This record gives sequence, C-alpha cells and structure tokens, in this order.
Amino acid sequence: MTRETDSESCGTGGPLRRLAGLCLAAALLAAPIGEVSLAADKPAKQVFGAMSSAAALKPASHGFYSRGCLAGAIAMPYDGPTWQVMRISRNRRWGHPDLIALIEKLSIKAHKDGWNGLLIGDISQPRGGPMLTGHASHQIGLDADLWFTPMPNRRLSFKEREETSAVSMLKKGSNYVDDRRWNPTYERLLRDAASFREVERILVHPGIKKKLCDTVTGDRSWLRKVRPYYGHHYHFHLRIGCPPGSSDCRRQDPTPAGDGCDASLKWWFDVALAPKKPSKKDKKAPAKKPKIITVRDLPSTCQAVVGADNKDLQAAVFNAPSLSGFAAPDLDLPKKFDPLAALSSRPIEASAKVKTASTIGDLVQDSGFADLTGPVPIPTPRPTR
Ligand SMILES: [Zn+2]
Repeated sequence: MTRETDSESCGTGGPLRRLAGLCLAAALLAAPIGEVSLAADKPAKQVFGAMSSAAALKPASHGFYSRGCLAGAIAMPYDGPTWQVMRISRNRRWGHPDLIALIEKLSIKAHKDGWNGLLIGDISQPRGGPMLTGHASHQIGLDADLWFTPMPNRRLSFKEREETSAVSMLKKGSNYVDDRRWNPTYERLLRDAASFREVERILVHPGIKKKLCDTVTGDRSWLRKVRPYYGHHYHFHLRIGCPPGSSDCRRQDPTPAGDGCDASLKWWFDVALAPKKPSKKDKKAPAKKPKIITVRDLPSTCQAVVGADNKDLQAAVFNAPSLSGFAAPDLDLPKKFDPLAALSSRPIEASAKVKTASTIGDLVQDSGFADLTGPVPIPTPRPTR
C-alpha cells in the first residue's frame, strides 16, 4: 500500500483524507486481511503517534514498557486541585486507569506532605505505543514523568504549560544535587511516590539517588524502588507494575534487594557519567541505523488496539474524585490535535536545545509525516465539576 492509496482509502475529501494515521485506523476497521497485514508493517511510531483517542476496549497494557501498546486508556484531566498537566499539545496525558488514579492519589498525598502539587509531564499516547520523539518506554500506559518543579500557586495558561522549563536539581556542570535547591520536600515527594504498592520503580538521576542515600534516616526500605538513571534531574519517572487484567503485560525484573546505596551507585559516577575520550575505533565506526519498529513488531494484540473504535473523548477523561467542587480554569486549547506538535514541542529541560525550524523539518521528514497537514480532534476538558 503506498502513501497515496492510504489517503485514497480514507473517505472522500476534507483534511482527514491526508491523515495517514487516522486513515490507517479507519482502514483497519474495514480492511480485508491483506491490507491489515500491510498496515502492520508501518512504523509503529507513525501509527501510534497519529492516534488522537484511546481504543474503545477493556483497559489492558500489552507487552513491555519499551515495546507495547495500551487499550482502554483514560486521560488525566488537565487540572485538578493538586496537579496541572504540562505540554498539553503532545497529547500524552493518557495511561492505564490504575496509573491515572494513582497519580491523583499521589498528588493529594504529596500535597498533604508539603509539596504544592504535581506538574505532570508525559504519560503515554492515547493508545500507547512508540512515540515520534522522546521516550523508549512510556508505551503501555504504566510510566509517568513528574516534574521536580512544584506546581505554582496559580493556574498556568496553555502557553505557559508549553513553554515553562523545569528546573534541574543538579549543581550546574556537576553530577551532584545543588544543595541550595534541595530541601526535605523532595525527599518526602519521592518517599510518597514509593509508598504505593503498585509503584515498582522511580527513576532519578544518580546524583539525586546519592543525595537520598546520604540523607534519608529512619525507614530506608523505600530506597530500593528509587533507581539511578541518565537524565531525570528535571523530573522523575514513576513506573507501576503490570495491572490485573493485562495478561500479556510483561513484568520487569524486580529491583535488587537493599537500598542501592552501594557499588552499583558508585558505578554511575565512576563509569557511566565519567567523561569519555572518544576512541579511534568509535570515530571510524559508521553510525548504525536504528531498526524501524513496525506495528507487527509489537505484541499481536496491538493490531487490534490500532484497529479499535475511538473511545468517546469526554468519557475517556478520568473522573477524579478530587475534582468534585473544583473549578477547572478555561484553557485556550488548540481546537485540534496536531500529530506534529510532539515534534516541535519544547523539551522540559531548560538546557536542551529548542528545536529550530530546520530541525523540525528534518524530524517531520524522518517521521514520515511530511505529507500530513490536517489536524485531528483533541479531547477538550470537561466543564467545571
Ligand atoms: Zn519517563
């Protein structure tokens, strides 16, 4: 199936014709077996990156955190008394209902413990799957990025949520926490996150793990869940285990016993984060092209997720208990979801290079979205509840 026939197979006119992703989903519903299998050979990041709504199926996480998809997702409301969703244009506020409910509970618990509220970064796409930009994991609706910057005392505008940068916890140019910034509220926030049974891992920069190792007193058992990893000094990454009802969700190995304040942490500073001299061999080695992951490379259940009907957008937004009586602000949201927004949206790291028009152009080419111009609907927030 060529790109042209894709668009031809998707109705008779209007901007939707040009949306290969949507057309693909629609085509899959009606397509004969041969066409479905051809759709399955498309790059998964293109197919899932174009999905604007969740699959109207029973909630289930299929596959592994870095290779899978998500059925029956729900969306985090843009605002709640103890949270605000950031980078709305990316449409990555979707997750398994267990994760979305847990984020609300964490936001309430952390608020009671002195954290002003959560700024919520990427969770998953409406049907999970690989993304056009940004993450290896976050594919099955069980991962969420939460900012180390506390929620301000006011509601941010749509534009501010797109453009505000998070603040690094590290001292500039070092791998260690900036003590002028660190205070006990960060420890309590991470401890609260680890306190939920469902939470299996919390990824933070090794410098933050070291700070916890050096300062946490009393019960230290929760440190076992806090794992050092690259990046993760502007935000931490929360991961829950496979939820009940997700029979082909693949469990990650449990974290090693102990608090992790040992040689394994030292390795990060001595080896992983140590400055590297490029070897001659590295210079000569031609850059390897990463393998393109197609829909077929994901668990077979993901083909049904791609082909499923759209979940009703309003009903798919989590009816969070804490929203009762909460007046959500009016956000000046874009009328439509643009799959290209994820390519041009600003990283949360202040130091990361903001993409220029030309690099966006390259990304668009790489993504296979070069021929997509029309928008698709974005869920709107529910009115005040
Ligand atoms: Zn993450």
